[in-house]
Amino acid sequence: MDIANLYTLFLKSDGISTDTRKITPNCLFFALKGDNFNGNAYAAEALKQGALAAIIDESKHHNTTETILVSDSLKTLQDLANYHRKQLGTKIISLTGSNGKTTTKELIKSVLETTYKTTATQGNLNNHIGVPLTLLSIQPETEFAVVEMGANHLKEIEFLCSIAEPDYGYITNFGKAHLEGFGSLEGVVKGKSELYNFLKKHSKTIFYNADDEKQSHILRDYSRKYSYSLTNNKSDITLTPLKNAENAALVYLNNKIHSHLTGSYNLPNIAAAITIGSILNITPENIKKGIETYIPSNNRSQILKANSNTIILDAYNANPTSITAALDNLKSMNTENTVVILGDMFELGLESLKEHQHIVDYTKQLDLKNLITLGHNFYQTNSTHPKFTEYTALKEHINSIKIENSTILIKGSRGMQMERLLELF
Ligand code: ATP
Ligand code: MG
Repeated sequence: MDIANLYTLFLKSDGISTDTRKITPNCLFFALKGDNFNGNAYAAEALKQGALAAIIDESKHHNTTETILVSDSLKTLQDLANYHRKQLGTKIISLTGSNGKTTTKELIKSVLETTYKTTATQGNLNNHIGVPLTLLSIQPETEFAVVEMGANHLKEIEFLCSIAEPDYGYITNFGKAHLEGFGSLEGVVKGKSELYNFLKKHSKTIFYNADDEKQSHILRDYSRKYSYSLTNNKSDITLTPLKNAENAALVYLNNKIHSHLTGSYNLPNIAAAITIGSILNITPENIKKGIETYIPSNNRSQILKANSNTIILDAYNANPTSITAALDNLKSMNTENTVVILGDMFELGLESLKEHQHIVDYTKQLDLKNLITLGHNFYQTNSTHPKFTEYTALKEHINSIKIENSTILIKGSRGMQMERLLELF
């Protein structure tokens, strides 16, 4: 079946499914393969549960008229997503970067939807499967779609751009994340810049942070661009951070905007959403409303009060750049009693031990008291702070030291599930 015919079938369906545990009636089921599963084996089950058709790529499962055999189900999903994208009048805003993509995506969505029919990537569906699924979920009447793109190796963003064909783009930052796949920080810059390269090649609009020297340098010869600055650098939108506010807050055109996000590292994320909103003709009042009504979830940058303690729960993920930002933020809060509970960072390859050591040293350099760590990487650092490799031992220690009247930072890679610690406070 060619892609145009498959598209006709897609338009008759009620959406895409790749998981038989979440089948919706009349969906198109795509049999994808992963390390531990083969969707082809579930095609019959999907049809039994009411799927309109199942797209498979193994002939032995091709046994009813409702199975459609293709050479590669994943590639077909990606091709279909691009075909759909080409039919849409929707403007696509793509974002990538090392840290803050999902937060920035949600902020942009919150600002845009004050004025336009807007959709965005669900959660963190930002890879070679998530991006096509995001595109295929866009309804024709949607005016803007904010599409998050993740990558852990070169050429990935280039590929995702070829599917999504963005009209606008923004890179949150170049940081030390996924060093294993990118090799080095230069690799990260090259990999993320693939978004700018696509936009430049197609004369599309780029938003960027004028305070970031690398970004300004990369874009120096390109004219279709809009920038912001939080430090009075030359830029299109100038924003002034508000000091002494509990959460990240700033002034935009005489409007004080208070977000629900903790951490000064969220200021660029907010700034990006303001800039994009402003260039897309959203009124300052609606921009303010969009930022102020966004409430973070999923353990990203939340401030919680627990008895006499204040907890900065940032347990969604961690890498050297984001932990450094979180430590700087804790330091800037000027609170007397601090407790820093960190879980291991993953995917750092050969640099891993060095980066963990650096974080331990940096905590001391900032004079942040009471560092406690969980995980084998931090365990190997040259330091005498309390270190644990088992959650139960960490828990006993924390219970025994009775933390009171303190500001507690909790952060670690997703796999460390540092949010478990909330039960102790
Ligand atoms: P992922 O790669 O998992 O999709 P992401 O890029 O979508 O991550 P978010 O989920 O928005 O990022 O944020 C994850 C964490 O990154 C936050 O909890 C915070 O610690 C940190 N972070 C967010 N924004 C920034 C920033 N601008 N600079 C540095 N660190 C940041
Ligand atoms: Mg994300």
